[in-house]
Amino acid sequence: MDEVLKSPFGADWLDRYPRRYVLAAIREVLAFKREEIQKGYTPDTAIEALASDIEIKIERLTARRLRPVLNATGVVIHTNLGRAPLSAGALENIERVARGYSNLEYNLQEGGRGRRYDHLRWILGELTGAEDAIVVNNNAAAVLLCLSALAAGREVLVSRGELVEIGGAFRIPDVMRQGGAVLREVGTTNKTHLRDYREALGDGTALILKVHRSNYRLIGFTGEVSIDELVELGRERGVPVMFDLGSGCLIDLKPYGIHGEPLVQEVVGKGVDIVTFSGDKLLGGPQAGIILGRKALIDRISRHPLTRAVRIDKLTLAALEETLLQYADTEKARERIPVLKALLEDEERLKRRAKRVRLLIRRELKTVEADIERDESQAGGGALPGVYLPTYVVVLKRKGLSALTVAERLRRGTTPVVARIREDRVVVDLRTIPDRDVKTLVKAIKEALG
Ligand SMILES: *Cc1c(COP(=O)(O)O)cnc(C)c1O
Repeated sequence: MDEVLKSPFGADWLDRYPRRYVLAAIREVLAFKREEIQKGYTPDTAIEALASDIEIKIERLTARRLRPVLNATGVVIHTNLGRAPLSAGALENIERVARGYSNLEYNLQEGGRGRRYDHLRWILGELTGAEDAIVVNNNAAAVLLCLSALAAGREVLVSRGELVEIGGAFRIPDVMRQGGAVLREVGTTNKTHLRDYREALGDGTALILKVHRSNYRLIGFTGEVSIDELVELGRERGVPVMFDLGSGCLIDLKPYGIHGEPLVQEVVGKGVDIVTFSGDKLLGGPQAGIILGRKALIDRISRHPLTRAVRIDKLTLAALEETLLQYADTEKARERIPVLKALLEDEERLKRRAKRVRLLIRRELKTVEADIERDESQAGGGALPGVYLPTYVVVLKRKGLSALTVAERLRRGTTPVVARIREDRVVVDLRTIPDRDVKTLVKAIKEALG
């Protein structure tokens, strides 16, 4: 050990890496060599021979586990790949606010205590018309909090067609139980009528809940009650109506041929009492849960003890405020917010990007076959199920390697690339690779397959 540490290699490592990891790596490699000797082998134990093994071990120990990857799946809001990438403006605002102190909970006018929730009330009201707002850690927390604050110990009406699971453990009936509310199912899986809600409504009803079918579609013999009718019913009987929108779309996607996602401001305009949605789905901001609604209800929610447990942190607030401010100018939002840019990317631009990738690969990598094809990408992240966006992909093939091996090598590189596999071919979708990442992509492909 001493000998290795005192060698020029050792001095260099101690200079570059924390001592504990240098020692751990050396110890591990020496133990392995000792074992080999005991087994009767005669490994080369010169320091020069051990150095590269030790260095690899040190690098592995000191590497960051959470790493950036290139998303070549074309799935814009990829839940496993970090959902929404943040805009440059949002990142700058995080830095601006978090580098030093801020007025997070300080009222600069009055010189006293303020509320972290107040910073976003104006912009959320301005963009959506909502009377009041509060923002929490994510939309799952938002739904749980609303149910706990508004319906604990009482009944909540939900259509059987909307008792959804949003990946993992978030299931409406479970969240309902956790929030202490009593689920009152109405209608059937495929059809729910207004009379179903009307008949179930009683003195024990605290809330009518509508859940957007964000990750699946009902087709065939189906029917649901519109939010307008639910609002009317709620008004008539004095029961608040809540709509869990899931995604939170602020710009109309219909002109781009994308249908099925309700607009937040339209839903608010219809008089829904509480609206919740995610910050990092179609909105394209940081992970957050946004709750909009009537002042009296938001007041009740903000006083609930759970609010503190699911509160939003200042980094998120900074990123979210900037993202929301970008929506003041729809055209600029389309250009600056990565989720919107990827979702609405022009087909011609995708084709040009694919051609550039193909050209670079053909020029730099003789062993790899690269062809361009038209294909379809998906929004993902529990948004726009069944919507397929026309895209261009580069199909990669390398002689002697199966598609699985190619994909694995791409995944395991210095800059991991996560691609799709289709019909035993590796497909790189350029929708989710911005122009600035094209060179990095080609470099990663070269490293993996060259
Ligand atoms: C995604 C989603 C949620 C959960 O939101 P998170 O921000 O992921 O916690 C809840 N409800 C619906 C309808 C959703 O689509």
